[in-house]
Amino acid sequence: MNFDQFNLDPRINAGIKDVGYVTPTPIQKQAIPEVLRGRDVLGLAQTGTGKTAAFMLPILQRLTKGPLRHVRALIVAPTRELAEQIHETAVELGKHARVRSVTVYGGVSKKRQVEALRRGAEIVVACPGRLLDIAGDGDIDLSRVEVLVLDEADRMCDMGFLPDIKRILKLVPARRQTLFFSATMPKEIRQLAGSILKDPVTVQIGMIAPAKTVSHAIYPVTHKLKKNLLLQMLDQTATGRVLIFTKTKRRARFLARDLEKKGHNVSALQGNMSQNRRQKAINGFRDGKYDILVATDIAARGIDVAEISHVINYDMPDTVDAYTHRIGRTGRAYETGQAFTFAVPDDEGLVRGIERVLKKPIERRQLPGFDYAGYKPDKRNGGKQSTVNSERAATNGNGRRSRGNGGPKGGSGRGRRRRRGRSYAPQGNGR
Ligand code: AMP
Repeated sequence: MNFDQFNLDPRINAGIKDVGYVTPTPIQKQAIPEVLRGRDVLGLAQTGTGKTAAFMLPILQRLTKGPLRHVRALIVAPTRELAEQIHETAVELGKHARVRSVTVYGGVSKKRQVEALRRGAEIVVACPGRLLDIAGDGDIDLSRVEVLVLDEADRMCDMGFLPDIKRILKLVPARRQTLFFSATMPKEIRQLAGSILKDPVTVQIGMIAPAKTVSHAIYPVTHKLKKNLLLQMLDQTATGRVLIFTKTKRRARFLARDLEKKGHNVSALQGNMSQNRRQKAINGFRDGKYDILVATDIAARGIDVAEISHVINYDMPDTVDAYTHRIGRTGRAYETGQAFTFAVPDDEGLVRGIERVLKKPIERRQLPGFDYAGYKPDKRNGGKQSTVNSERAATNGNGRRSRGNGGPKGGSGRGRRRRRGRSYAPQGNGR
């Protein structure tokens, strides 16, 4: 099965060819025909499933006909990083169709966004706050919006955007197509979806659970030992790109600094950084300048970096949903990934919650040779000793570099990290 079956405009097929997609992902197979038919869609999809193209391709198809230079598709997303990512997808896939997309989010010049809107665009990808700001100034006309997309709706609600979304809904025509995507479906989200979707088709990809291609392990530890455990783990483990999560911006900043002191190529990504610096950190991570990104949950939202081999939860996420989102950063588009979580004894309740969602126990591991300074990680958790070798086997070809003991790294391994072809092959491709 390939993209030809959707009978898309040849200019859009040319865009698909450019980005290298060969086979539609399951959500694309299910959602694209429905969106092309004009149906409202409720998409229950994890990150990494290809949902952006699932809504973008039919939108682009619609835009190949009808008036140009009016805002006809509005996509609302929780963070600037995600907005930027969606915009890039629109630009890449819509290049040959000459579709224009503009981003609208805070933290950068409003003037330039307004100027871009004045020049005319068919797609606007926006975060709620700045969109309402610009709409309040009368600098955007949303009266001709034909398609409204709410992406990562659960996260928007978590971030307190629900009232803003309700205000945005009043600015767009009632007669429109609405596409609603969420990785999780708490009651609040279900109610919101129910109130704005008309006779929607529900597209659900798998269980609402972390991507299946990610293998999970818990490392029981104490707060005091965390940093040394991480340093030794990074030295002993064959890793590609590593995304580390901390609870707070301050902890992200300090941990990145400490890792840098130990010779790692690392950048922080946290909400106190300017948009420019955040983008530099993400680009540096994507291009291989940094092997490690230390991020907070919100800052990491929407990062689209292929080939993240390891997500390390240095601090336990606050909720099972947050765990799902973090882990969604690895195993994207069905590559394999490893998710390591440092759990202090108090985290045990949350670990059980995650196990319930995964429907299986998560392996407890100890790092071989690590000095636990009297702490008995296996005592509480019935820990299972694993070796570095067995872990490497588990990376399934994804582990690309094993560092020497403690010393600064030599080559960055960048040459080996060229972007892979994007053919979508859920099984049997040896990844
Ligand atoms: P998303 O879930 O939209 O964030 O997409 C996750 C990743 O999958 C992105 O890097 C996309 O470029 C990639 N992707 C989307 N659709 C396909 C496809 N049909 N084949 C291969 N990769 C894809």
